[in-house]
Amino acid sequence: MPLIDRAVIEKLKSTLPNLHVLTPDSVDYKKSLERSMRNTEKPAGIVVFPTSTKDVASLVSFGQDNSLDIAVRGGGHSASGASSTDGGMCIDLCKMQAVSVDTGTMHVTVQGGALWRDVYLATERFGVALVGGICGNVGVGGSALVGGYGWLTGAHGLAVDNIVEAEIVLADGSIVAASSSKNPDLYWAFRGAGPCFGIATSIVFQGYKQGFVWHGDLIFPPSALTAVAEFMNYLLRVSKGESSAILMMGMLPGMADPALVVQVYYDGTESKAKEFFAPLFKLRPMGDSTKMKSFAGTTGGGDDLPPGLGEVTSGGIMVPMDSVFLESLLKDYLAFVKLVPDASETIIAYETHPTYGILLHAQTETAFPNRGTFGNVIISARYTKEETAVACKEWCRAMHDKVHKEFVRRKMVDNVDEVTKTAVGEYINYDGLGENPERLYGVNYKKLVILKKIYDPQNVFNKCVDLLPRSDNAVVQQMN
Ligand SMILES: Cc1cc2nc3c(=O)[nH]c(=O)nc-3n(C[C@H](O)[C@H](O)[C@H](O)COP(=O)(O)OP(=O)(O)OC[C@H]3O[C@@H](n4cnc5c(N)ncnc54)[C@H](O)[C@@H]3O)c2cc1C
Repeated sequence: MPLIDRAVIEKLKSTLPNLHVLTPDSVDYKKSLERSMRNTEKPAGIVVFPTSTKDVASLVSFGQDNSLDIAVRGGGHSASGASSTDGGMCIDLCKMQAVSVDTGTMHVTVQGGALWRDVYLATERFGVALVGGICGNVGVGGSALVGGYGWLTGAHGLAVDNIVEAEIVLADGSIVAASSSKNPDLYWAFRGAGPCFGIATSIVFQGYKQGFVWHGDLIFPPSALTAVAEFMNYLLRVSKGESSAILMMGMLPGMADPALVVQVYYDGTESKAKEFFAPLFKLRPMGDSTKMKSFAGTTGGGDDLPPGLGEVTSGGIMVPMDSVFLESLLKDYLAFVKLVPDASETIIAYETHPTYGILLHAQTETAFPNRGTFGNVIISARYTKEETAVACKEWCRAMHDKVHKEFVRRKMVDNVDEVTKTAVGEYINYDGLGENPERLYGVNYKKLVILKKIYDPQNVFNKCVDLLPRSDNAVVQQMN
């Protein structure tokens, strides 16, 4: 680990005397490096905790002036280690988590370091919810600036579709606003590739009126997959967002065998929900935790995962889902966890949010490049021993390629609409394999590169996706 010169640290402390700073010899330093997956942690040279936009701007300028590698930490859930730096300066936004609600416009203003659970808890006091992550510990910044799928996606699209304005610290340390009327090109890029362009210190989202919802897990044996998939296809056909579900194959704590967990969501009364989900209840679930709850009560989906090692990748699963293909993935999953017992906590999850809200926008309306009539498949291999990493990586790669091949095949054989035709078939926020940026951003890539050269020509923000083509990166490195 390259150490940051003591003199540089002292200079920073005198520039920002009230700033909380951790160095490798500080008591809380190790804790500050923790991420949701241990293999994405790196030993920062210094970890700093700004409390204001001005602090963030000063830190970015300081980092540039002193040639420090910069990482920005929101909720620490990046699959690729994008919020960690080996020897550089980690700007941890955890002291910037304020949330406020304007009940007139229903605008929700969130500081860049907030986590989704805190946001939902703050907004539900006003009977308001917004499109955001399902896991409460996920950071707003990291998820909402790259996409942001949640229970309200079916009705209102992605978190990026609901960003009204953002306050951004750019690579040169300047503070700018981005909205449809202020820096509209940056506003376009920030909604899908935000972390590649700057640090959002504050984001204004459109919120929506929200009451209690019905939500929970229904558990089935793997043999129920085809019947469950049939119901999911029905849901995807008829729902405009009032109902949604996530289907997961995995091993539950305390269970000897893998199971199917269907996390269900219904925006309405329990009796209406049970009527809608009756076909699933007819399959006689082995477990049922569904009940009415507040919107903030729906967060989960990974909150209680024990810290461990993990490899993540994703793909798109075309609607209607082909149960033969799903069965073949289930077979792959069962074979893998049998072959690699250390990876028994591996999961495959299908986010079958209705596509209605996502398709209200064109593929090029924001930088987000993955709209279409399909859901995400998340392939998450979790393990405990470092020596299992290679097997997990290889399996994730093989599963990724298999899912992508099927996605491309379905695009060709189905008569897909114009939006789906241009979709990349992968949610960037689930890419732990470091895919090529051009493939990840598809039709929006060229425009992003042009804007990147305007807003961050030195490629300071290179960790989420390293946007610049390899040849441009070589030039930047020479300049540095
Ligand atoms: C258990 C689990 C559940 C998940 N559930 C969902 C879900 O329901 N919906 C969904 O859409 N995604 C979900 N994700 C994926 C999630 O969106 C990504 O992992 C995302 O990167 C997490 O953001 P973070 O802030 O927590 O992570 P971090 O690792 O802190 O940051 C990720 C990237 O965002 C950048 N960043 C963070 N904050 C800011 C900011 N304010 N300004 C600029 N850049 C910033 C970081 O620099 C880094 O490049 C989930 C992931 C996990 C592990």
